[in-house]
Amino acid sequence: MPEDAWPTDPALIDRVLEWSRQRILGPTDPNAGARPAPELERRLGTTITPEGIGGDAALAAFTDVIVPATRAQADPLNLAYVPAAPTAAALAFDGAVSAAGIFAGTWEAGAGAIHAENQALAWLASLAGWPSTAGGVFVSGGTMGNLSALAAARWWAEQERGRPAHRWRVVATGEAHSSIRTAAKVMDAEILPVPADGRGRMTGDALARVLEDDDGDGLVAVAASGGTTNAGAIDDLAGIADVCGERGLWLHVDGAYGAAALCAPSARPRFEGIERADSFIVDPHKWLFAPYDCCALLYRVPERAASAYRQTASYLEHIDRDEWNPSDYAVHLSRRARGLPLWFSLATHGTRRYAEAVETTLALARSVADEVRRRPHLELVMEPDLSVLLFRRPGWSEEQVRAWSTANARDGVVLCVPTRWAGEQVLRFCFVNPATSLSAVVAVLDSLA
Ligand SMILES: *Cc1c(COP(=O)(O)O)cnc(C)c1O
Repeated sequence: MPEDAWPTDPALIDRVLEWSRQRILGPTDPNAGARPAPELERRLGTTITPEGIGGDAALAAFTDVIVPATRAQADPLNLAYVPAAPTAAALAFDGAVSAAGIFAGTWEAGAGAIHAENQALAWLASLAGWPSTAGGVFVSGGTMGNLSALAAARWWAEQERGRPAHRWRVVATGEAHSSIRTAAKVMDAEILPVPADGRGRMTGDALARVLEDDDGDGLVAVAASGGTTNAGAIDDLAGIADVCGERGLWLHVDGAYGAAALCAPSARPRFEGIERADSFIVDPHKWLFAPYDCCALLYRVPERAASAYRQTASYLEHIDRDEWNPSDYAVHLSRRARGLPLWFSLATHGTRRYAEAVETTLALARSVADEVRRRPHLELVMEPDLSVLLFRRPGWSEEQVRAWSTANARDGVVLCVPTRWAGEQVLRFCFVNPATSLSAVVAVLDSLA
């Protein structure tokens, strides 16, 4: 390619980097958010043209139209769904990782990056009490992580029984994340439901009862929750691990949101039993202060996954199979080193600081629970296991609650979206940001009076 194939203005690169710098170090904008497509079409105009509109015009479109039409996921008062709170170090380093243009699917192309990613994965595995022989890969998100873990479990189950099953089944409660059902659908498997207890947990006893009445044919895995998305409830992992151990069943723990709390001493005991799981996931883009998109997928015995996912072809013949090839551990081949922003932030700040940051959000959830309890106009649905808080506003209709939520979102005051608990509409906060202030949340509670 001739040198001037892509005429590049270094000053444009500077402007892109300078905008990034200001964005990383500047405040979030709670008023940013989705706009209707016709409005965006009008404001953006035609950007894809034979001649190009030029870098400056494209950058202006990005800064003035595109970004303001996206939600500030890291805003301290974004408390809906599971928000994000990436460190400045992680955000900045995400840019550096992109600039380095690393192919991190195979060792021969990405060795240095893969080795560093593996150090971050090893830290997560050690938090779960797993042996140093455990390993895995960073994939795009919890959905991909759950699918990859469960499909590896099915492959392993098929190897164990020596033939395919008439129908495959994944064991889960109704509180399991929607992506577990999607994974089952993709795998053409069914869900074998276990009734959750009053707090939305799977217990070992409930699991044992369901399995007693079942012929056990085609069971792929038990998909347990290490912190449900709706209520932050952690399943009885120790009881479930007992049952899985007795029956030789693969135990997968979906900790996309909650397993970040493995690093918090106050929450760690709640995860007892995870040390016996066969796979687990955690999304660092949720509660471990990394940017999108990043899910850590870990296997106790990585070779089981590799035997499912390793791709072979004539053009892949000279990949070094003795080295660690991340493409072997999920449904992918090409991949960016998306674990490196987490690695950089961990290396920069240290794991103690991570533990403190997660503890800060856990303490905030407990304090807000106290504040809810203190207010006669509010009612706590249950004590929080983690940093999700469910509460109700007795006396308000569903429409009133929705109107309150919509008005606050529109005005950039707080993002708090109602959910349902046992069929009833309730309010929900999810805290992942150590910068969220108690007094600001208390003001939100008072606005419900
Ligand atoms: C968010 C979440 C997922 C899905 O993760 P994505 O990264 O959004 O794909 C899966 N399980 C749980 C428990 C979650 O909270």
